Amino acid sequence: MPFDRRFSDRLLAWFHLHQRDLPWRQTYAPYHVWIAEIMLQQTQMDRVVFYFNRWLEHFPDIPTLAAADEDQVLRCWEGLGYYTRARNLQRTARLLAEHGHRLPDRYEELLQLPGIGPYTAGAIMSIAYNQDYPVVDANIERLFARLFDIITPIKSSESKALVWQKATELLPAGQSRLFNQALMELGALVCLPRKPRCSQCPLVPWCMAHRQDIIDERPVLPPKKKSIIIEMATGILMRGEKILIQKRKADDVWANLWEFPGGRLKEGETPQQAVVREFLEETGLQVQVSDAITSVRHSYMHYRVILHGFFCKDAGSEKKEPALHAAQENRWVDFTELRNFAFPAGHRKLIEEVEEGFRGLGV
Ligand code: SF4
Repeated sequence: MPFDRRFSDRLLAWFHLHQRDLPWRQTYAPYHVWIAEIMLQQTQMDRVVFYFNRWLEHFPDIPTLAAADEDQVLRCWEGLGYYTRARNLQRTARLLAEHGHRLPDRYEELLQLPGIGPYTAGAIMSIAYNQDYPVVDANIERLFARLFDIITPIKSSESKALVWQKATELLPAGQSRLFNQALMELGALVCLPRKPRCSQCPLVPWCMAHRQDIIDERPVLPPKKKSIIIEMATGILMRGEKILIQKRKADDVWANLWEFPGGRLKEGETPQQAVVREFLEETGLQVQVSDAITSVRHSYMHYRVILHGFFCKDAGSEKKEPALHAAQENRWVDFTELRNFAFPAGHRKLIEEVEEGFRGLGV
């Protein structure tokens, strides 16, 4: 069937009936759309809704975000990962002070802002301002690979160019807000990566993969990258009721987040040995490892990180204050205060594990 008016009409009718009730769809305020789009870059929709609502409670508008303390911004972002996104949101909010705290409504101006690339600029232009700009996200890439039977690998430059071209050609004038979201929503809810729900799809008459019965072969996927396993160890050093935490350097990975001292295991080293060495290198303190807390696993891009956590005690440097060889700041805090600081995912899981243990002991 030709890709005429009937295509967009059916898609929009489907969206009208089936779109999810998302908070930023209430008003399409540019600030809301921008925050949602940045959060959605690496995170599933159901998790984003929770983070989005919490974010707006803390930072209801651009001036509040601009004026906030960076620690508070990172704490609000904690759990979403890829913290550069949060830092860029705040940098942008501060830059916008010169423009009356208003998010630009011109594509080229949006592209000048930290953390806003062609996808996000297109999404803001179309979803917030309903201007005729196409967007292509992973859902649309998959949907179009099936719809147009694209035979080149989904992330190849040929595929990307073709998908952008189709997204531009299909866009009905004046309807980009709904049309772009409808495509993304259909990809997210119906044209699923595995087992697409073709019986519920309004686009069956146009779908080349469906017609040829090759849905399982589209999209063509690139060879899977092998994940790299990284083993790390860290220690919770206690002096009385206080725990040592340190703030990572601004130019490091997980910049400005807080952590317990520790790091990557060297070849042939046990996790306990790594904790002792890392403490000495990072803080100048000599510690002894006592109880193991747990080992947590989490993924980061194509890395799989195993983090071994231990309780530690001083072993000769009780009176000494920790040095700042690998951090910009350190503090001795109560356990309950840890919730006020932003930690990388693995360290937060360790804290939760300790909390769980305390609850079990009735502490
Ligand atoms: S018919 Fe099936 S494969 Fe084709 S676009 Fe719809 S859900 Fe995807």
